[in-house]
Amino acid sequence: CIPSRLSFEAIAFNAAYLSLMAETIVVVVGAGVSGLTSALLLSKKKGYKITVVAKHMPGDYDGEYASPFAGANIVPMAEEKEKRWESQTWKELKRLVEEVPEAGIHFQKCHILHREHDLKNPAGFPVHAFSPTPWYKSIFDDFRELPKGQVPDGYDGGCEFTGVCINTTMYLQWLAGQLLRSGVQLKRGILADISEAKNLSHTGKPASIIINTTGLGSFKLGGVEDKTMYPIRGQVALVRNESTPMVICSGSADGPGEELYLMQRAAGGGTILGGTYDIGNWDTNPDPNVASRIMSRIVKIRPEIAAGKGITGLSVIRHAVGLRPARKGGVRIEKEKLDDKTSIVHNYGHGGYGYQTSYGYAEAVVELVEVIKGPASKL
Ligand code: FAD
Repeated sequence: CIPSRLSFEAIAFNAAYLSLMAETIVVVVGAGVSGLTSALLLSKKKGYKITVVAKHMPGDYDGEYASPFAGANIVPMAEEKEKRWESQTWKELKRLVEEVPEAGIHFQKCHILHREHDLKNPAGFPVHAFSPTPWYKSIFDDFRELPKGQVPDGYDGGCEFTGVCINTTMYLQWLAGQLLRSGVQLKRGILADISEAKNLSHTGKPASIIINTTGLGSFKLGGVEDKTMYPIRGQVALVRNESTPMVICSGSADGPGEELYLMQRAAGGGTILGGTYDIGNWDTNPDPNVASRIMSRIVKIRPEIAAGKGITGLSVIRHAVGLRPARKGGVRIEKEKLDDKTSIVHNYGHGGYGYQTSYGYAEAVVELVEVIKGPASKL
């Protein structure tokens, strides 16, 4: 039989009603790489109205907002049993280089150098990254061990592969742009307690799911107050000089916490000279003596970056400090109930590997959100 005009209207009304009912209101707290990537992957699913609320947004520079300060590259630091996060992320970062130049990421050769001393007495970067036989050799097509003649003095061995370097300034803006294109709204807000997020959706309706990506902010954010969070201070120099390949060392002759790394960012983003890995230090002011040691280490291992002129040949854009948001026991990726109608999904504590694990953890966030939403998420 042919439905009457009234029943067509009833069908249209019911469809609109059902789609409204199916809409899940989500507020993401935090606009670093973890929050923006989580929001991006969730926005690709149907049925979510997403708002990102944060104290700091792409474009801001503040030591407590880690994301702009990262190099950023991928040097897998997890143990083999945790390889999911970095393996999944590598696939997407590679795709972005190949297909989305405006994301501000490029391929770059990477040299990883180790000293036996650092592998036996770990005091800096996680040692898994520097293993002479790392699990990650299977994910990089051109992984090779460096012949002795290509290992600089002071180091005992190393490897080479083609990785990526992210221009973080450009990439965070690109992520924000992708969110706006997908209908996600971004706004400023400083939360004293995570429960405040319930009332911060741009829709005016209460959020039923809150995603907590506040990084080091989780140390004092009410309702979370995770005292297993701690900073790992990273001082860097950003210079105009260019140099490849990237180099990351397990330690340096200047002592524990004094690292040596260099990453040339994509698309005119300058070159990051690092750095420090200072566990438990909350100071966000660059130290001029540390800055001088960082630059000296770089021009010693790579004199050509400064045309052989030593540190006077470096053209400094800025010295800066970011705090890596580390957590005893690793990243907190789990859901919990706030009250009868609201759940929280936590995704924080990425230490010095937040970019290289960003898509892996964001996929886990989406999985947890869909479990909370239940069978309706499969509609
Ligand atoms: P953040 O970027 O710190 O963002 C936290 C967000 O939460 C911000 O928007 C903040 O405003 C918001 N927020 C916090 N508290 C509140 C509140 N109460 N109310 C509202 N908003 C709040 N990683 C790599 O993968 N590769 C690298 O090469 C690399 N190099 C690094 C070098 C340095 C020097 C540093 C410092 C870090 C490096 N990292 C690297 C690590 C990486 O930068 C971090 O793991 C990552 O940026 C963490 O992102 P996040 O989004 O979790 O936290």
